[in-house]
Amino acid sequence: MSAIQDGPVSSLLSPIDFDGNVELDALIRDQISPDMLEAVEHAHRGDCVAWGIPFRVQKVLLVRDEAQKVDIAPTTAPWFVFLHTSDIQPDELNEHGFISPMRGKGKLGEHAADYVLYYEDGSTERATIRRRHEIGSVDFRFGENCTQCVPSPKPRPIRPPSQEPMLVRWGRRQKQAMAARSKPGRGSWTNYLWAFENPHPEKAVIGLGFEPRSGTVVVSAVSAGHVQATPLRWEARWKAIVKLPENIVQSYELNEHDLLDHVELDLGQVISITPRLLYPNDVWPETRQNQQPVRSADEVIVEFTAHPDADFHLSTGERFAVASLSDDSAASYSVIRPVEAATQRVKLRVIEKGSTLPVPVKLHAHGAVGEYLPPLDRHRSPNPAWFEDYSADLCHGDHICVYIPGEITMNLPLGNVFLEITKGFEIAPVRKTVEVTENTNTITIELERVLHWRERGWVTADTHVHFLSPGTAMLEGAAEDVNVINLLASQWGELMTNVGDFDGKSTFGTQEAGGDGEHLVRVGTENRQHVLGHISLIGYRGNMISPLCTGGPDESALGDPVEVLLSEWAQQCRNQGGLVVLPHFPDPRLENAAALILERIDAVEMCSQDDFYRGIDPYSLSDWYRYLNNGYLVPAVGGTDKMGATWAVGTIRTYARLPDDTPFTYDAWMDAVRAAQTFVTYGPLLEFSVAGQAMGDRITLSASGGTVDVTWNVASATVPMTRVELIVNGEIREAQSVKTDEDGGQWSVPVNGSAWLALLVRAKYEDKPEMIAAHSTPVMVEVEGSPFFAAADALTILEQIEGAMAYIDTIGTRAKAKRLAEMRLVLQGAYRRLHNRMHEMGYNHPHSHATDHPDHH
Ligand SMILES: [Zn+2]
Ligand SMILES: [Zn+2]
Repeated sequence: MSAIQDGPVSSLLSPIDFDGNVELDALIRDQISPDMLEAVEHAHRGDCVAWGIPFRVQKVLLVRDEAQKVDIAPTTAPWFVFLHTSDIQPDELNEHGFISPMRGKGKLGEHAADYVLYYEDGSTERATIRRRHEIGSVDFRFGENCTQCVPSPKPRPIRPPSQEPMLVRWGRRQKQAMAARSKPGRGSWTNYLWAFENPHPEKAVIGLGFEPRSGTVVVSAVSAGHVQATPLRWEARWKAIVKLPENIVQSYELNEHDLLDHVELDLGQVISITPRLLYPNDVWPETRQNQQPVRSADEVIVEFTAHPDADFHLSTGERFAVASLSDDSAASYSVIRPVEAATQRVKLRVIEKGSTLPVPVKLHAHGAVGEYLPPLDRHRSPNPAWFEDYSADLCHGDHICVYIPGEITMNLPLGNVFLEITKGFEIAPVRKTVEVTENTNTITIELERVLHWRERGWVTADTHVHFLSPGTAMLEGAAEDVNVINLLASQWGELMTNVGDFDGKSTFGTQEAGGDGEHLVRVGTENRQHVLGHISLIGYRGNMISPLCTGGPDESALGDPVEVLLSEWAQQCRNQGGLVVLPHFPDPRLENAAALILERIDAVEMCSQDDFYRGIDPYSLSDWYRYLNNGYLVPAVGGTDKMGATWAVGTIRTYARLPDDTPFTYDAWMDAVRAAQTFVTYGPLLEFSVAGQAMGDRITLSASGGTVDVTWNVASATVPMTRVELIVNGEIREAQSVKTDEDGGQWSVPVNGSAWLALLVRAKYEDKPEMIAAHSTPVMVEVEGSPFFAAADALTILEQIEGAMAYIDTIGTRAKAKRLAEMRLVLQGAYRRLHNRMHEMGYNHPHSHATDHPDHH
């Protein structure tokens, strides 16, 4: 059995050579209760450290029947700390089955013993030891904490799984802090530390007395020393910068590997150690939103709570007094220096110019040395892992942000504080330095709406968000200025998420529901199959369309048969009034082809995941273009697939235009997507028309074709734009450099055969590669006698449908035979449609052996 040592030891206190009257292992049933006896293996033994105080446990002192006196080496220590506990005396029920008088299991206030200091001059000082004041009971009952003693060991942070000594399951791990006990749960032996202030330190103490008053007390050890205040009270949290060797600092990995072994405290506890973040504070207002800090190679920020006499112990062997951090006269802080404590309570208000009402925003704040400053009611250290944190926080790498409703309370340090406030794509992002003084009570930040797409009828949407509660989704949507959040329930193996939030009718955030009517949340479903594809069924009414997933892992449970097709889910969603989107287009993709050819898809989704800078993936566009080239007009929408704190809703988003004079409702938004007047964007906004017709429209030209006028406007309040391109049938027809913030133009484009025309906008942050930042849904220009047809693309689509058939025919786990036959018919129907069209167009494709190709010839 190893001794319990809860950290490094303070040199200010020393164990008193104290021997009791019984060996722990010799305790017997007559002396202590069965519960205490059962827990004896968990008691402190040998050389222990508790709350940074050294104790030497030899024999323990059973204080029960008669007074005991222990002689000690003379000491003038002002503090004596006792490591002790008391036995449990079960409550007796009275004749009515109740407990009376009721002091609680811990017997609050019961006089357990007197402890006595014997001085060399023959005088004594006596302390009353009362239960739940100076001593607790060996078996802890929840909520019955003590008023003047602390349980051992000291509280500590919970570490990442690879370093955490106890089994802490992920839910509890989110707490990141625990009041440790010798053993969790029942059967623990909890010892308590109580500090007795010696009223006469000018006289030597030569003996300790222990006089029982009621029940049984077990004293394990005593320590004594010189500290300026009770050694069991730590000060409020504080931070310091500590220099460590580079290889140590660089071994830090958020959520995977901490640095807690490298800086420890004796009379206190280190809460966290993270690499110091270097932000461009000097030029903060000129830097861009979301720009991430750089990690210091050799400095960490240590957050701690400690007694004023505590020492830091570094793994390098160095030792520094916490008190030196407050010592202005210290010559230099070469290894450790203080961080201004965040003690000024400030209300932060964010308003929009011309209004006094607070508005939801995304907020980041840090202090002079890059330390993150969260609001009081938000995470100080959000967890970026998948499904592990659905709080209103954002981890953009090391740049931590939080979603706030517009007015929030923070503790800020005096001096400069660096704020970043953003709200979507139409409001100018703000980075601002604010000086906080002792007179600062409120900070008001005014935002300005600089782009006005919303006023022109455009509404924004994220088609794809997981795990958040509808309330949090509403806040995040409002803070990112996303008008519609589609929160998708789904299945992940044996995990079902948001299924209880789905009711097939409620739209959260409407005025009738008490919201502002501008930021809506609707729960839909993402139904998934790992080979055939994923499909987002949104805004539908009635019962949930289930099963949510089929066909086994990675999406559904082991052993689930393939019992429904994407095309069937799509049809059911439409029957229930919903909108059908192919998410994170194109993968997984096999059945996408059939569903699109059957014209059951309302939109394809360009997806950002949590990457702010990748832009719209040419891989996704290339797949979409195949369908457009063959005349299947399906608009593009934007969705993030948010599944954790590293995603921001609306990173990529859908803009859809409501018809003039149409009030914004969830249904109106669905209609706008169906009408296909949409674009997707990472920031740049656009308007685009061909021969006066908007995106999603179809124009017909006579067989001789003609020239169409293309007009466009683009604007960006966030990412600087570089170029716009006119995409015609999947190729760049025109390209033009643009001003970074706003531009417009016009092209005359000859059209000889049927063509689709779309606008693509490229953009670039200075420190990132250029990306495809926005893309419109096309305008379709049909030239009579020249149908849309691209044989090579049609062939790849056909092959995909063949693939879907091959899968359900061979390795897909089978549902009932009838179901398989029905599904096969659906796929054959899609196959036949496209196949016949290819032959009509005079294209004789090579037939594959993979399918039986029943309808050919
Ligand atoms: Zn998916
Ligand atoms: Zn998803």
